[in-house]
Amino acid sequence: MGSLASWKRDHPTARDLKGIYRRLFSRFGRQHWWPGDGPFEVMIGAILTQNTAWSNAAKAIHSLKQGRFLEPVALHTVALKRLARLIRSSGYFNQKAERLKTFVRYFLDRYGGNVQGMRRVPWRILRKELLTLKGIGPETADSILLYALEKPVFVVDAYTRRVLARHSFISWQASYEEIQELFMERLFARTPYFSEYHALFVAVGKEFCRTRPRCHACPLQTMGRLRLEPDIKPVRSSNDT
Ligand code: SF4
Repeated sequence: MGSLASWKRDHPTARDLKGIYRRLFSRFGRQHWWPGDGPFEVMIGAILTQNTAWSNAAKAIHSLKQGRFLEPVALHTVALKRLARLIRSSGYFNQKAERLKTFVRYFLDRYGGNVQGMRRVPWRILRKELLTLKGIGPETADSILLYALEKPVFVVDAYTRRVLARHSFISWQASYEEIQELFMERLFARTPYFSEYHALFVAVGKEFCRTRPRCHACPLQTMGRLRLEPDIKPVRSSNDT
């Protein structure tokens, strides 16, 4: 693992970051993120997918839709216990029901449940507001900003950190904000680009950069200086899983 000093020395240039994007895009193509029927559903999905696979969050969204609860006032008024039952498939459902309630109260109180009104506010202000809400951390806040409100904000997740750290571009100890700044300072901030880029990190993380990475087949294998964690052995071939 590198120290913060070695991270400063190794951090990626704009060229490196563009190169990662190009390779991922040519391998995986357009990802069509975020799966969701409108911005409000995307906001709710960003909370439901915390600490769980998207497929579990999608089931919870489906049951909210079936019960006609996927709109701000209905979510605000439904009983907490009933809401928790409806979103059971997403895991941590009691906690997430409270988080949904907190978010929807804020959305109604501050913006009258109006996405367009929220979109008019600068993203730095919205980010600060979202981060004051219980249960909304940087990744959830930035997912809401990027995918629901179309703000040019880079979303960092565990795959982003893993890929960059394994290629010696960052220290494993780099903070969320330090990693985010790399992208936001070095790349031209455009919503479609950041949106696609994050989705591509998820694609490479799921297919190749797993706990036991499949570097031999990965489009990023020649980027930077590959330095896997000392106790991690890569998968050697497609038969070795
Ligand atoms: S699988 Fe290997 S080459 Fe691909 S991103 Fe992960 S560490 Fe890099």
